Amino acid sequence: MNSTPQISAGSGPSASTEMERIASLLGTGRLSGGASVVCDYEEALSAYFRVPRVIAVNSGSSALHAALVALGARANTEVLVPAIAPLPTVFPVLTSGARPVIVDTAPGRLSFDPDDLARKVTDRTRVAISVPMWGYPVEDSEQIELLRDAGIRVIEDACQAHLTVDGGQLSGTRADIGCFSTHDRKVLSTGEGGFLVAGDPEILERLDFYTHLGHLKGGHGVNYKLAGPLAAIGLARLPGMVGEVSARRERAAQFLMRISRVKWLSELEHQADSAPNYYSLVLLIQESMRAVADNIFSGFGVQSDSKAWNFHPLNERPIFEHERWVCPNARSLATHTMQLPVHSGLPWSALDALATELTAVTGAS
Ligand SMILES: *Cc1c(COP(=O)(O)O)cnc(C)c1O
Repeated sequence: MNSTPQISAGSGPSASTEMERIASLLGTGRLSGGASVVCDYEEALSAYFRVPRVIAVNSGSSALHAALVALGARANTEVLVPAIAPLPTVFPVLTSGARPVIVDTAPGRLSFDPDDLARKVTDRTRVAISVPMWGYPVEDSEQIELLRDAGIRVIEDACQAHLTVDGGQLSGTRADIGCFSTHDRKVLSTGEGGFLVAGDPEILERLDFYTHLGHLKGGHGVNYKLAGPLAAIGLARLPGMVGEVSARRERAAQFLMRISRVKWLSELEHQADSAPNYYSLVLLIQESMRAVADNIFSGFGVQSDSKAWNFHPLNERPIFEHERWVCPNARSLATHTMQLPVHSGLPWSALDALATELTAVTGAS
């Protein structure tokens, strides 16, 4: 069609040891979640996340569901979810039987809007979910503290936020339980998969029991185990995760420098002691320039989440229409942002060419 270099979503190159690891596993004949490679993968993960223990599961959705069950979400309880979260954050709440209560985000931020939060907490609230969207820090440590003081447990849905630094701490390690996904689109991929991070031994015990069929001891559990070959892939790819995130941070910084003269574009804000993992580079677009921006970005094959995924605040989704919640801040964040891939698999020349076109528009206007 044209010769503009295309900027596709995806992850970086993977380690060459993948095939060897899978081949040796096939040789053992143990492919289930009971294979010893799953323990090796969990141990390796716990070192990367600097936590005593990680539990591998078969998806990020399973991780969220198990976390909700472990923290007491069930029928006649409520779970607070930020309106900016995607549908996969809220579906596990529905699966648990609890009622999701959608809370607006603070203006230009990912944390809960304090006024809306105060309105939405009831004596049925058991859990709140903090969501580092697009791998950006939520910077809600004080809010997490306040919620816990009120007897509300907090889950981080860090499915997009591997190695994101939030107020000096790794996302997923700041609250009661951190949930991660290793779906193909995430920074660490095993095809499908996920894992759970927690510090409290009692919570870890509950998570382990529930996700492993209650270890067939008579209590209720489900089978959310990660299969051996997927753990082998994760183990082979894990060393590349740090390099991939560094590469993304470097590219994001370079790109932002290249567009520093473009006054109608700015990065979603974060503090000095935080660092996104750049699942996507998130740019805020001045309202009056939206159409111009969409045109330039789409020439490079880039569409905002609101176009590519029909991404809307949760309260505007048909399943919640009857609740009549209003979340203007989340709506503004969803509609005024552009999500730009900056993974290491992209040729820098494509991002550079995009920066040149964006800068040219400034010059003309
Ligand atoms: C991907 C994702 C999920 C779901 O993870 P799966 O592994 O696809 O089940 C949940 N929440 C967020 C924020 C995600 O990005």
